Amino acid sequence: SDSRLLLITPTYERLTRRPDLIKMKNTLGHLSDVLWILIEDGKSIDPYTEEWLREDPVVPFVYLAAETHVQFNRTHRGLDQRNAALDYIRDKKLHGVIYFADDDNAYDLGLFKALRGVRRLSLFDVGGIGRSGVEGPALDKDGAFARWVTSYAPGRRYPVDMAAFAFPSTYLFKNPDIRFKWETHGGQMETAFLTTVEKDPKNIDFIQELIDHVRVFHVKTKPIRTSYPKDWASLR
Ligand code: UDP
Ligand code: MN
Repeated sequence: SDSRLLLITPTYERLTRRPDLIKMKNTLGHLSDVLWILIEDGKSIDPYTEEWLREDPVVPFVYLAAETHVQFNRTHRGLDQRNAALDYIRDKKLHGVIYFADDDNAYDLGLFKALRGVRRLSLFDVGGIGRSGVEGPALDKDGAFARWVTSYAPGRRYPVDMAAFAFPSTYLFKNPDIRFKWETHGGQMETAFLTTVEKDPKNIDFIQELIDHVRVFHVKTKPIRTSYPKDWASLR
């Protein structure tokens, strides 16, 4: 049977936040049986963002706040927010497939369709990154794992992007150690996290559909302005 999707999205005030979230909300509005867990990087949620989310809630959401430890905020972007969302899922005992969906990436609906079938930790490819423009597992002609396609730190056990994996929330209930850790080097966040989720690469699945076709792209949106005009706070 198809699973509910639990989508975890760290977000914070930057010039491209509203346009990024507009695109994301419109995408997620096509889905049913999904919970969008947004976590503001701050002491409290942003009232303009909350108002905008509420005015046309095309997707069920919760909007929480968790502030980043200041000394790490450029190297471990989104870490405290993702942990806060994992705590929320544990606390509310939410069942479903967990996916870390940053606020600025591009998501084809085919991604979510494929994620419904996730039964174990599952890995796939992400476009727009790496020397070849895509990163993640490559499969052989029988659909078995062949090699990692990656240019960044290829020695990592799971050399993949944050957007390259999903897993059922039952893993969280069984293992309290599953969380992102500050002591990890910034560039090792994914592999360190995944190693706590599943130590044996034999116990992971590779989603052929999301490897044959890239359905999620890592994107960096570039603002045209360098600052908000005064008194235009609602652009946030
Ligand atoms: N983010 C955050 N606080 C920050 C920087 C980033 O919550 O200080 C969020 C951001 O909104 C995004 C995720 O963390 O959902 C990853 O950040 P970003 O897109 O800047 O990183 P990159 O795409 O370069 O990995
Ligand atoms: Mn990003």
